[in-house]
Amino acid sequence: MPVVFVYSGGYYADIGDHIFPIRKYRTVYQELRRRGIVGGKLIEPEPASRDELLLVHEPAYVEDLLRARLTPRTASAELPISNEIIGAFLLATGGTIRACEEAMKNGCAVNLAGGFHHAFPDHAEGFCYVNDMAVAIRTVQRQRKGVKAAIIDCDLHQGNGTAFIFKDDESVYTFSIHQRDLYPLKEDSNWDIHLKNGVTDEEYLTHLGKAVPAILERFKPDLVLYQAGADPYENDQLGDLRLTIDGLKGRDQLVFGECQKRGVPVAACLGGGYAWNTDDTVTIHVNTCLAAIECFG
Ligand SMILES: [Zn+2]
Repeated sequence: MPVVFVYSGGYYADIGDHIFPIRKYRTVYQELRRRGIVGGKLIEPEPASRDELLLVHEPAYVEDLLRARLTPRTASAELPISNEIIGAFLLATGGTIRACEEAMKNGCAVNLAGGFHHAFPDHAEGFCYVNDMAVAIRTVQRQRKGVKAAIIDCDLHQGNGTAFIFKDDESVYTFSIHQRDLYPLKEDSNWDIHLKNGVTDEEYLTHLGKAVPAILERFKPDLVLYQAGADPYENDQLGDLRLTIDGLKGRDQLVFGECQKRGVPVAACLGGGYAWNTDDTVTIHVNTCLAAIECFG
């Protein structure tokens, strides 16, 4: 079955002058269209509902979000707050939910946004108001009882919010490979690989090449949710890992390929990416989509 892509023009919101290149969502989409990749296999998501948010987030925090209120719970985000911005997070979360549902039906889907893995149940953190990954997994589990999910988080930063949310949940396995000496304060995932500064393609892919098959074989997930952050890149402004664009594509091929080989559905979301040249971030995200197509057709 062809790979499904999930996208909305509403993924963009005005966040002012900010290091987060929020225009990348539209640019990635346009580049995929230009290459004739997304036509016919593109789905526009619905925003996540209050009920879906409440599967992960505390009621008081959900009300702050839905009213775009500045409170101690929302002020911990490193982003401004407005109805438009929260609307974009709800759409991105709806997109990750939809990508998970499509992956369960078709094998593979990519949300052209999402990966907000720093959001906690009761507060925002980093550039994340809603933990779309956790909400998506809980939503799938509400529909399909007994589904086991594994999160493979390859962003530069640890998936701390996600690790915290699922720490006592045996139905969700959390894996994160990230730069050690960097934001955030680390939570315990089921498996963390804390990388030293300067790690290059070879060392990274060696770690991942052992971890991904081990997770799939031992945990036997019914669904993998892959956070394909572009920020382990050697020319990223926020990090000190040294992966090349080719190395990052190799990472994507490894994750998608190991899932495909074993018949495990995989949904991907884009995650971070703060390259000095935003074109590089876009190329890395487009390559993630290409790797999905190469592996799943
Ligand atoms: Zn990141």
